[in-house]
Amino acid sequence: MATIDGLPPLRDVIRTHDLVAKKQLGQNFLLDLNLTAKIARAAGGLAESDILEVGPGPGGLTRGLLVEGARRVLVIEKDPRCVPALEEISQAYPGRLQIINGDALEVDATAHLTAPIRVVANLPYNVGTELLIRWLTPKIWPPFWDSLTLMFQKEVAERIVAKPRTEHYGRLALLAQWRCDAKIVMVLPPEAFTPAPKVHSAVVHLTRLPECRYPATEQVLLRITAMAFNQRRKMLRSSLKGLAPNIEDLLNSVNIPPTARAEEIDLQGFCALARVVEAQEKAR
Ligand code: SAM
Repeated sequence: MATIDGLPPLRDVIRTHDLVAKKQLGQNFLLDLNLTAKIARAAGGLAESDILEVGPGPGGLTRGLLVEGARRVLVIEKDPRCVPALEEISQAYPGRLQIINGDALEVDATAHLTAPIRVVANLPYNVGTELLIRWLTPKIWPPFWDSLTLMFQKEVAERIVAKPRTEHYGRLALLAQWRCDAKIVMVLPPEAFTPAPKVHSAVVHLTRLPECRYPATEQVLLRITAMAFNQRRKMLRSSLKGLAPNIEDLLNSVNIPPTARAEEIDLQGFCALARVVEAQEKAR
């Protein structure tokens, strides 16, 4: 059967290279090239960007990115079995696909990329959240990337875009929305993948802001939100007791009722609290 890029169908690629999915590597492959091209288009700006793709597997999303006109794609894949399949794609797109066989948690991709850079990936579930947090907390802001277009388990995607007073609202939402505009652009049923996972998946598109949405120091904000959400059912005057002896006064000074719970406080409120806590700590 003909494919949109003239390369063999992904089912044949998997058979030829004997790519039996390994659960421990989070391998759930997308085999529908129309779907991978659609995910690629959701990233936007492909023609003028270098793309970092983590975990290309047999290359379904990689092919989507290239067929949709990505300037260059750098893929980092941990499983050496996938490399020959990826090399066949590289030959079909001379000079546009670079393959690194390694662990995305250890490889410094930035050395191989030229701005503007977009990250597009169907992430391995076991390292997806860790990679996202790393991309959101670089030493300096703005980061090396302009946007992240990432597939997660749907529940993780909901935690990234969640608003206050909702079930999934927490530290991930605050961190992501402090530094990015974040939205879910696609929801996929388990049957879209081979093998099918147990749960639905969703693609989140995050566009970085030039500066954080409200001023605050990252470590202070992360420390406060960790304390607040680790005991999310407690009132803030209790969950944040260890932060300062006069925590009720500090909360009142930024118009947060000390009896409120973490999930009722929006990003602006947490940033204001981080600033007064830091000011008091510096004055001591
Ligand atoms: N992108 C492909 C697709 O959409 O069909 C495969 C996605 S699959 C969910 C995740 C891929 O990430 C697998 O190919 C797996 O081998 C790879 N992987 C897992 N852990 C990795 C790591 N630490 N660094 C790089 N790749 C990793």
